[in-house]
Amino acid sequence: MNILVCVKQVPDTAEIHMDPSTNTLVRTGVPSIVNPFDKNALEAAVRLREQHGGSVTTITMGPLQATQALRECYALGADRMVLLTDRRFGGADTYATSYVLAQAAKALGPFDLILCGKQAIDGDTAQVGPMIAEHLHLPQLTYACEISIEDTTVQVVQECDNDHICLRAQLPAVLTVTKSINEPRLPNVMRRLQANRTEPDTFTADDLPGLDFSCIGLSGSPTKVRKTFIPVHEKQTHIIDGTIPADAVSVLFSLLDTAKISLTAR
Ligand SMILES: Cc1cc2nc3c(=O)[nH]c(=O)nc-3n(C[C@H](O)[C@H](O)[C@H](O)COP(=O)(O)OP(=O)(O)OC[C@H]3O[C@@H](n4cnc5c(N)ncnc54)[C@H](O)[C@@H]3O)c2cc1C
Repeated sequence: MNILVCVKQVPDTAEIHMDPSTNTLVRTGVPSIVNPFDKNALEAAVRLREQHGGSVTTITMGPLQATQALRECYALGADRMVLLTDRRFGGADTYATSYVLAQAAKALGPFDLILCGKQAIDGDTAQVGPMIAEHLHLPQLTYACEISIEDTTVQVVQECDNDHICLRAQLPAVLTVTKSINEPRLPNVMRRLQANRTEPDTFTADDLPGLDFSCIGLSGSPTKVRKTFIPVHEKQTHIIDGTIPADAVSVLFSLLDTAKISLTAR
């Protein structure tokens, strides 16, 4: 069973800063981690390899510093690291990101399974996994909290808001996984040392056969960010004086009425 795991390096903070002049994320100076859901995807892949044999390749599209995320995956059990890095990939939206990942999967494969996290904790769209499936015309099983393989089919339990759904698809397929699928293992020290001495296989746009350059990077991204801004939260505090509750309640109601009128007027 040959498995490709897509991992994204994300900022280790909930504070995402945007460059207002380019409308892109500012990465400089922000400590980075492997997107937590991608560690669940990797753990699922390593367990499947332990059961069925084969290999686990981890892939990321990002700047050179994303090598660190790949090395962490290597320490956690991946067999191969692939870095897709090229200035021309920069500024990609989810369409352009998933297009490049899908083209790379075609070039490096065939893979029986492509695993993604359910979403990235910075971009948060949960679109890349399903879009890879669409680019490759493969079945997609999303939000998997259990995976099992039987001959040439994959079965998952899909985690929904109120219930769980059992789904089955023919291999090859693209899966996205949730946090509850497993508890990722801790890295082995020997593997970590080995990871630090191992370089990822690096590909630029020129190395991906058949890549349509009009579909990559900022210019190939159908999403155009027109403006970014930090929402202003207005807060007014009123202390209601007085010892008689009925009077205080009536003051409260009149304040709420005024607030409602001023909100409606906006
Ligand atoms: C016009 C535009 C410009 C942008 N410019 C930039 C920019 O300059 N820099 C920037 O960092 N972001 C930029 N973004 C955001 C970027 O598009 C998203 O970060 C990226 O497409 C992934 O989307 P997401 O974070 O919502 O991932 P999700 O769809 O939430 O991720 C789901 C899963 O897909 C996989 N995945 C996602 N991204 C990658 C990846 N890069 N490599 C491997 N696997 C991946 C992971 O398994 C992940 O768990 C831009 C977005 C737009 C709309």
